[in-house]
Amino acid sequence: YLLAYQALSKKKNGVAITLIWSEVIIHAGLGVTLIGWDSGFHYYLLIFIPALSVTMPFGVAVAALLGLWSYYVGLYVLMWFMEPIEPIAPSALLGVYLFNLSVVFAMFSYLSFFYLMLVTTANQKLRWMATTDSLTGLFNRRHITNLTNRELARFQRGGHALAFVVFDIDYFKPINDQHGHEMGDRVLVDVAAVIKAELRAQDLLARWGGEEFLAVLVDTDLRSGQTTAERVRKALKTQQWIAQNGEFISITVSAGISEFRAGDDLNSAINRADQARYRGKVEGRNRVILEQFYEL
Ligand code: GH3
Ligand code: MG
Ligand code: MG
Repeated sequence: YLLAYQALSKKKNGVAITLIWSEVIIHAGLGVTLIGWDSGFHYYLLIFIPALSVTMPFGVAVAALLGLWSYYVGLYVLMWFMEPIEPIAPSALLGVYLFNLSVVFAMFSYLSFFYLMLVTTANQKLRWMATTDSLTGLFNRRHITNLTNRELARFQRGGHALAFVVFDIDYFKPINDQHGHEMGDRVLVDVAAVIKAELRAQDLLARWGGEEFLAVLVDTDLRSGQTTAERVRKALKTQQWIAQNGEFISITVSAGISEFRAGDDLNSAINRADQARYRGKVEGRNRVILEQFYEL
């Protein structure tokens, strides 16, 4: 075990595992043949079952499990035909048995919690990757679409207002072109944080595209949405970044707003906000434009 520990600290995991497994296999074999099956030493072999199936490729695991099974059954059958080589007093045997049983119990419990933790962390990571934009930490497009569809059900039931704001950074490409993609990334991260800070906790915000963000403002009509979008626009206008060449970088955004209407769907509502944003671009950028909505 000392050698295995040393191997582990040298990152020689294969060596460590081989050492530990050999020890357990030999220990179980010796324990059972020396003092008998009732010593309980064979239980340690069972701990390999989950460990093998979790850590090895399927084919190898099956082969190893078959080998383990043969060894286990072989030991049992062997002890059926032979007497223990060094039998001990029954009370001592009981003590050894209870000790081994308890240790194996504890090891299985630990292993179960260990695997549970592995699975839980992997799950959390997957969920994060599936719902989050890795650069800005905001929701991704798919996730805000799912969340908003849920919000829409509530809207349709209770008649709550729902506003959509599409923000698009003005002349963002030149920042990349003049100061590099990394600088562009830094700007995106900070813009995301500024928009987030200007919204309320219950509002939803996502990175909608490259340098575009979608905010879904709950219980908010077109006019209050405009106030919020203006607040964001002004907050972003005061931001500055210093580029590597010492130049100051500042940005503006254009935003379009729409409000969810009866008979609307998510796409049409967002499209109207996007068209408004586009008009903002045409009209000179750095502005918040309300949707044009025609009652049919
Ligand atoms: P406009 O005012 O019309 O919006 O001009 P613009 O330059 O902002 O718009 P355009 O659509 O021409 O360019 C968007 C740029 O955003 C192009 C693309 O390289 C950049 N971009 C998209 N995603 C990322 C990203 O993750 N990181 C960086 N650094 N740049 C990105
Ligand atoms: Mg764009
Ligand atoms: Mg842009």
